[in-house]
Amino acid sequence: MEIGAKLEILADAAKYDASCASSGAAKSDSRSGRGVGSTGGAGICHSYAPDGRCISLLKLLLTNSCIYDCHYCINRRSSNVRRAVFTPAEVVKLTLDFYKRNYIEGLFLSSGIIRNADHTMEQVIAVARTLREEHDFRGYIHLKTIPEASPELIETAARYADRISINLELPTQESLDRLAPEKNMARTKVAMGRIRHRLEEASERKRDGDKKLRHATGQSTQVIVGADASTDADFLDRSDELYRSYKMRRVYYSAFSPIPEPSAVLPLQAPPLLREHRLYQADWLMRYYGFQTREILTPEAPNLDLELDPKLAWALRNRQNFPVDLQTAPREVLLRVPGLGVRNVDRILRIRRLTRLRLGDLVRLRVPLKKVQPFIVTADHHPSRYLLDSDRLRARFAPKPRQLELF
Ligand code: SF4
Repeated sequence: MEIGAKLEILADAAKYDASCASSGAAKSDSRSGRGVGSTGGAGICHSYAPDGRCISLLKLLLTNSCIYDCHYCINRRSSNVRRAVFTPAEVVKLTLDFYKRNYIEGLFLSSGIIRNADHTMEQVIAVARTLREEHDFRGYIHLKTIPEASPELIETAARYADRISINLELPTQESLDRLAPEKNMARTKVAMGRIRHRLEEASERKRDGDKKLRHATGQSTQVIVGADASTDADFLDRSDELYRSYKMRRVYYSAFSPIPEPSAVLPLQAPPLLREHRLYQADWLMRYYGFQTREILTPEAPNLDLELDPKLAWALRNRQNFPVDLQTAPREVLLRVPGLGVRNVDRILRIRRLTRLRLGDLVRLRVPLKKVQPFIVTADHHPSRYLLDSDRLRARFAPKPRQLELF
């Protein structure tokens, strides 16, 4: 099979991995000569470098053949799809060609498991090693690793990559048993723990002045939302553990999308995309706003409210904590006010040292007044206690009910 045909198959197969922000976006095609900016399925996606820059990556699978049979995966052993395998030299060539033409700033490489985990990892590493050592490639490299591979190989991958990741896929072992029977949560956690250890060692060596050391600076993972009955609490509990115990940079929530020729154990419909969005918002609250999982969700309500963002939903459940005086409240309390983001909270702390805060200051900061007003006190604004306690407050924020169309 020629390399262009492989590229079409293996770039398309990689789109189900959500670790690149534009995964799953509608494909556009400018190969007909009309329009510009798309090479039509060549697998260029966007991601964020460690310094926060948005970068374009060539996103590929080394192969879409796999000895595993994960039900949610189009590349599973029992799936009836066209298969292709790149040689490491072909991936190197494609990466360099795209890089030299300025199409990409790096490579995102994953793979189905061929023969066994170690053999697959060796192929993936061969790509990264050749790029770095033979071609002095300085672009960004993100490598997916396989938890079953030997620790030495995962460690070697981390030496050539900027970011490495292992997909957890599902939040509990019970879910894995049902949908990905060859995968094991404990084994994945052991591999993540080892990666964390190596990342910490490398950052210590860099701090101690080892300027030449090249090593990944973080690990990330992906979970699939809506492929089974796992609740949002199951996902957030697992993410909380991953952030705390494995220093995960990022957990990606990927809404399950029905695949061609699906396994009979899968739902027929994708979950609402809003569920994925709410999980990202809740994840953000845990990482940057000081919320605990148990504050966002409870055993009685284990799923996020799709109508309201999770901070607003929390505020409406905890109205006794409001209104908050913006002039005097500590930072951690301000962070819990709906409509106030981290950056604006820090600006408010600076402004209030100099003056009494008024609504006009919030307008200048572009704070959404309609959202924030019921929950705050400023020099010129005292919200009505009646509104804060009233049932109407939720209705003020929830989307208006829409009449169903008959035709
Ligand atoms: S191991 Fe990865 S590529 Fe293979 S079936 Fe499972 S999810 Fe798909």
